[in-house]
Amino acid sequence: MTMNFAELAPYFSDEAKAIEFIESLMWPDGAVCPHCEGRERLSRIKANPEKRVRHGLWKCGPCRKQFTVKIGTIFEGSNIPMTKWLMAIYMMCTAKKGVSASQIERSLGISYKAAWFLCHRIREAMKRDPMRGLLGGDGGIVEIDETYVGGKARNNRHKNKKTAGQKAIVMTLIDREGEARTFMVPNTKKATLQTIARPVVSGSAHIVTDEHLGYHGIDKHFASHHTVDHSKTYVRALIFHTNFAESYHSLLKRAIIGTHHHVSQKHLPRYLREREFHWNLRSASDGERTVEAIKGAAGKRLMYQKPV
Ligand SMILES: [Zn+2]
Repeated sequence: MTMNFAELAPYFSDEAKAIEFIESLMWPDGAVCPHCEGRERLSRIKANPEKRVRHGLWKCGPCRKQFTVKIGTIFEGSNIPMTKWLMAIYMMCTAKKGVSASQIERSLGISYKAAWFLCHRIREAMKRDPMRGLLGGDGGIVEIDETYVGGKARNNRHKNKKTAGQKAIVMTLIDREGEARTFMVPNTKKATLQTIARPVVSGSAHIVTDEHLGYHGIDKHFASHHTVDHSKTYVRALIFHTNFAESYHSLLKRAIIGTHHHVSQKHLPRYLREREFHWNLRSASDGERTVEAIKGAAGKRLMYQKPV
């Protein structure tokens, strides 16, 4: 599916079409009742504004309950039209440096608070299992590096006093031929860094890091370990560098500082998932990323409000 803006545009303006589009992605084999998991005798209830019956309502014959495609997803409990959800998802899947909540607020004509929740829910949809596949399989090269993010006290002094001004430490593991994984870590001690790396990286991988002591002895768990040493020969520097990890970190900082200005440590992991989503789907089209995010919306209902 190579959906571009023009192909997606009808879904941004017609609520019934928007819902049918979401349904086609969430229910590829047809509608499913979330109450009894039945697929038989499900009927669509016709939208009727006078009776306050909205688009997307279904009724299950066997269990007699009503449902929509939004149940159990990031969309559940939201009164924002699906057309606007789709626009927000498309905007976030298109912008390489991220989209701020105030940009979503202006573009969609919703409140800042609604835009903020929308953005966080969409980040949740972008989240993938960090253990979904090992990095550096078949003897690939995996770069590992850490960076410090945020922490300008003057920008966040009204926030949590304990963490105000503190920089968060982000550890990135990146397969040169494949995906990246990022983690917020409490420190850069050997035990911390290596405990994270071991289950995420294949034993056959060749590891490249800087000369930080936290990586000493990591070669015991992997095929080899090389450190970046700028005094070594040019040929060596062609292979043993951490340029991928460094450019990943510069993109991350540009998104966080340039677009969001400040991100609290509490919310940073969600922004990391968003950057990871973009990097890992960097060769996909904007439309393909949009479809991926929508599919990821399932099973991620957030408890911002009490469950009904
Ligand atoms: Zn049912």
